[in-house]
Amino acid sequence: MEQVTPHVYSLHVQIDWFPQPYPPNVHLIVDGDEGTLIDAGFPDGQSIDGRLEMLKEFPGLNLRYIVITHHHFDHSAGAAKLREATGAKIVMHELEEPVLQKSATEEMPSDMEVPADRKEWHEMALTWRKEAAAAGADVLVKDGDVVSIGGLALRMVHSPGHTVGHLSPLLEQGGDLGSVLFAGDNVLGMGTTVVPTPPHGDMVQYIASLKKMQSLNADLMCCGHGPVVKEPNRKLQELIDHRRQREEQIVSLVADGKGTVKSLVAAIYPELDKRIIGMATSQVQSHLYKLEQEGRVRTDGEGPDTKVSVA
Ligand SMILES: [Zn+2]
Repeated sequence: MEQVTPHVYSLHVQIDWFPQPYPPNVHLIVDGDEGTLIDAGFPDGQSIDGRLEMLKEFPGLNLRYIVITHHHFDHSAGAAKLREATGAKIVMHELEEPVLQKSATEEMPSDMEVPADRKEWHEMALTWRKEAAAAGADVLVKDGDVVSIGGLALRMVHSPGHTVGHLSPLLEQGGDLGSVLFAGDNVLGMGTTVVPTPPHGDMVQYIASLKKMQSLNADLMCCGHGPVVKEPNRKLQELIDHRRQREEQIVSLVADGKGTVKSLVAAIYPELDKRIIGMATSQVQSHLYKLEQEGRVRTDGEGPDTKVSVA
């Protein structure tokens, strides 16, 4: 467990089976004898037992809420077991709960690209998505709603793009302690977050959400994966600039005659590992969706063979 501020802890657990360097984060907010979790992580034994053990370090803690930033199973699947053990209420954005329910039966984009040859992983992911959907939400919220934790206020900030009902809650700690923004997967400790095309996500909304998050002028940012960010607005600007550069690159490649999604992916990611071609393709498509909304390119067709031209 890592103390981030006098009111915020990161409940970091070791997960032996997890292959990536940055497993999903679960944060605990505490004031007096009340607490709230931001996200729930995975539901495996190591994750759940490890986190319940950490909660014991706050004797008499009344865990009031588990706020789920978005439905992806690496953030939501542990919620049922944590609720059962603590009595906390699960909180989600009103647009995200229906997507959580759908994700139990429908294939949709998620944070973890499971390699096609890892059959056991596919089955585990499906089981966990069902577990997350079965837990559902006890409280549905919308932008601006506030929940209290002891004397502190946690404001719900709707920040769609990665998913439609993504939340980035803002904690005002009072006094000189400043505010903490829980960015969810809008900001990761590494690389860039996956922004699917509608209906699963939306690049236009994603960039607007990053700007909205900047307008909150938070003092610290806790992310869905990876380390705490000490200069939130600088990091958010980096992400906005990165996406803008990628857009300009795409427009100039299209002008140079790269006329399909497939040829754009090959030009942008020349050394791409075959296993993540699907993810790279969907990122290019998300940018093209935004550029088309803005009247800068035209697209015709579907998938990697989609034809692209300058508008
Ligand atoms: Zn995610």
